[in-house]
Amino acid sequence: MRFMLAAAALCIVAVPTAAHAYCRTTTQQLPPDYRPTRGCFTKGLFLFWRNACVSYSVNEAGSRSIPYEEAKRVIDDSFATWMGATCADGDSPGIAVSNIGPSKCGEVRYNGDSANQNVIVFRDDGWPYSDPNSTLGLTTVTFNADTGEIYDADMEINSSARNLTTSDQVPANGFDLASVVTHEVGHFFGLAHATDARATMFASYKPGTTALRTLSPDDIAGICAIYPTSSLRVVSAEVSANQTIVADACDPSPRRGFISECAAPKTEEKCAATPRPTASWAASGSVALAIAGILVARRRRTRTG
Ligand SMILES: [Zn+2]
Repeated sequence: MRFMLAAAALCIVAVPTAAHAYCRTTTQQLPPDYRPTRGCFTKGLFLFWRNACVSYSVNEAGSRSIPYEEAKRVIDDSFATWMGATCADGDSPGIAVSNIGPSKCGEVRYNGDSANQNVIVFRDDGWPYSDPNSTLGLTTVTFNADTGEIYDADMEINSSARNLTTSDQVPANGFDLASVVTHEVGHFFGLAHATDARATMFASYKPGTTALRTLSPDDIAGICAIYPTSSLRVVSAEVSANQTIVADACDPSPRRGFISECAAPKTEEKCAATPRPTASWAASGSVALAIAGILVARRRRTRTG
């Protein structure tokens, strides 16, 4: 029995590291010189949503160039692309996602003691981070640093000074919203940048194309590896010896319930003093306008309750 258990654990470890090109986001910040083409960054604990169901909200303001209803359609389709994937066992990924309704709040935030929203918001009036010209989107994930459980994920789309389009015929200098969102949805679920250039999760986007709308087998292997069934999540060995934990029963509400408004004022200052703060992480897909486009991974760490 002991031997069998050991063998099983070995298989779980050995298969993904040998055969895949997808990478999982971990609780540890990427080193500044990290490049995914060298292989996955594996320090820290794997991130995952524990519940069988999660939800998101599109900010009601939409974008000046893309009205709310149009943005919602594209974003819903992008999430559906991931949910419609077929895993190796013939089933869909073991997590369900739904649009829980528009969000009045357009802030990236996590309320540790009150209701939340996993918002998708457009930034029309400038990009509030560095690299405004080379960043297309940013997904900020708040998680439990001791387990890797995701508590909240907020996605920002850089619609300032960007020729974002929802057309199937993307102009040569255009940026396909569905491609950008489909890539960011991978981050929403806990995937990091892939090492395979054919993957939607690879860190580059070629303007004028819809290439990232379609998942590669590697992207599908990635989400199926985290969410093999609706009742199991694959986690780091430090969290569970057999690398799986039982998922929580389906409740798509954000942590501590859904609220459309921003709820309580931000409380980072107060929470920063707590002994075990939750870390927050952000991955960004960015594209250089010049050549084919190199996406840069960037992470941000903030302290929240
Ligand atoms: Zn990215």
